Amino acid sequence: MSAAPVIWRNTRIATCDAQGQRFERGALVTLGDRIEWVGPEAQLPVTASTQHDLQGYWLTPGLIDCHTHLVFAGHRAGEWRELQAGASYAQIAQRGGGILSTVRATRGASESELFAAAAARLECLLAEGVTALEIKSGYGLTLSDERKMLRVARALGQHYPVSVRTTFLAAHAVPPEFAGRADDYVAALTDEWLPALHAEGLVDAVDVFCEHIAFDVGQAARLLERAQRLQLAIRMHAEQLSNIGASQLAARCGALSCDHLEYSTVADVAAMARAGTVAVLLPIAFFHLQMTQVPPIAALRRAQVPMAVASDCNPGSAPSASLQLAMAMAARVFGLTPEEVLLAATRHAAQALGEARRGVLAAGYKADFAAWDVSGPEDISYWLGRNLCRLVVRGGVVTQGNVPA
Ligand SMILES: [Zn+2]
Repeated sequence: MSAAPVIWRNTRIATCDAQGQRFERGALVTLGDRIEWVGPEAQLPVTASTQHDLQGYWLTPGLIDCHTHLVFAGHRAGEWRELQAGASYAQIAQRGGGILSTVRATRGASESELFAAAAARLECLLAEGVTALEIKSGYGLTLSDERKMLRVARALGQHYPVSVRTTFLAAHAVPPEFAGRADDYVAALTDEWLPALHAEGLVDAVDVFCEHIAFDVGQAARLLERAQRLQLAIRMHAEQLSNIGASQLAARCGALSCDHLEYSTVADVAAMARAGTVAVLLPIAFFHLQMTQVPPIAALRRAQVPMAVASDCNPGSAPSASLQLAMAMAARVFGLTPEEVLLAATRHAAQALGEARRGVLAAGYKADFAAWDVSGPEDISYWLGRNLCRLVVRGGVVTQGNVPA
């Protein structure tokens, strides 16, 4: 059955395209799950029997959360109290807390329990206008538990109106079975786990927590080299707590994104710029961990490295299921402008996921968009903890809210 065009009119549009086009009295035409046309309503090129009056709401691309650890069991509220009492994230990790405490809870959860826990968080993101997100593994740390996490991530994308990109992050922490044998663990990931899970269609990208408390550059390089041979996308947890050369390695591997970047240098930024790597900023983790070292925003701007912002939803360093909060905090704690923040959760987030046809409202792109009851798209990051999203359309279909009557 061929789709008929649908007109979405009487709306103000922030296209988020490279020209920064906005239309004060705009309209958008969709055909099935694609955008056919965007422009001033007075120039609508077609008529359609289905027309929706958006009553002056602002329209943006659907938001994209390009860095999440959405699938996990349990919580780490106890550790948060330790953090507040002055312990560091690294100290908590070194005494067996941190990631490994979530690993214990996640291993003990069934696939359906994990799905239910993650679904509750996902519903929060969807209500905020999110139409695509990335979900990492990394709390299983056995082949079967990593598989379980990735299967849940895929299932979320099948059961909810959202596009899910999965990332294999078994190189998140050294599991107890490999204590003191990190090289052996990386060899297992490289030679067995990654090829197996890739063959099962569960992996879209590979990520490494490349950090002094996790995996070194040599170990990361071995895993990423295999990822490249499998033609998988690469992203990297880089320079969050220290600088051991993670984003330089990621850039050499052609990574889609380097994420965190608090301790990145100007040379790291230059390497990312040359490689076309997106800088994914995670202000909620920065804030929650009470960090003081800010990512090199001015250098990223000067080098024209695209900046994305993500929730980093995870139980240890970013207990939040709000991309809007991350956007609001990116403006406050990292000094991004509201215009930069909007691109960071749309076009640049799409780029971080290798999604060439999302994150922009233009002909040929996916018909994923959100309508906002705001005076301008800047309001999305102006408000703290107030969700002004009134309608979400994903693939041309209304998935949240109601079209105004
Ligand atoms: Zn992360």
